[in-house]
Amino acid sequence: MSLSHSDSYSDRYRVLPGAALDLDAYDADDRGPYTRKKEAVADLQALREQLRALQERFYAWDKRSLLIVLQAMDTGGKDGVIEHVMHGVNPQGVQVTPFKVPTPEELAHDFLWRVHKAAPARRMIGIFNRSHYEDVLVVRVRNLVPPDVWGQRYEQINQFERLLADTGTVILKFYLHITKDEQAQRLQARLDSPDKRWKFAMGDLAERKLWDDYMAAYTAALSQCSTAHAPWFVVPANRKWYRNVVIANILVETLTQLDPQFPQPEAGLDDVVIV
Ligand code: AMP
Ligand code: MG
Repeated sequence: MSLSHSDSYSDRYRVLPGAALDLDAYDADDRGPYTRKKEAVADLQALREQLRALQERFYAWDKRSLLIVLQAMDTGGKDGVIEHVMHGVNPQGVQVTPFKVPTPEELAHDFLWRVHKAAPARRMIGIFNRSHYEDVLVVRVRNLVPPDVWGQRYEQINQFERLLADTGTVILKFYLHITKDEQAQRLQARLDSPDKRWKFAMGDLAERKLWDDYMAAYTAALSQCSTAHAPWFVVPANRKWYRNVVIANILVETLTQLDPQFPQPEAGLDDVVIV
């Protein structure tokens, strides 16, 4: 699949609201217009510089928030996106929230309680490393609540995201699409490498066995919860360098369209002399 110059990355990888979704039809090995990794790495560098400048204006503008949701199977690259795409953006304007197995206190509340608390304030970019979607993914696959409970959550999520969008949050949701073979290689690499081994959890193997169930759960979540105000993107992620370029492009396209402006300075500053 090649990307023509007229396609935006946002249009190319967005899940259309209400459309039937077949994840198998998405090529995880997609490398877009690139024949060589080197070209993509150079483009990523330029995109990061654009992102840095856009984020500076977005922060000063102080009118909207941006929420980035990252979901993937284990080893899919959520941490890598945060490290490599956001590299260079002023940390003061970014807030990363990882979502783990809920605590007893979190479980004693509705599933969106902990999520809403982590929603980015105006002028901030919030990144969710996993998210409320775990409540229709692992929770569904593992039968952690009955089907009639998780079954209601798609609509509840849409309404929650509608509220965030209506009150000024721009929402972008990325599913990092890797193949089961690629996951095998990455899990093995984690085992083999002393500086990656800490990321390996025995539990990851149990989840890997449920791969097909997870794909069904992802399909349901992406097709039912991709909306105009909170779109899902299926990001080809077998190649880390292409994954990063796709996400960086979508962020730059989105922020460029928002066109954040530096606020008007106070009047009369031209005559001020600092003594
Ligand atoms: P990691 O992101 O690798 O540190 O792992 C976090 C773990 O927390 C994953 O196994 C997730 O599936 C799990 N997790 C996150 N949110 C939930 C949730 N709402 N219910 C159950 N498990 C969750
Ligand atoms: Mg893990």
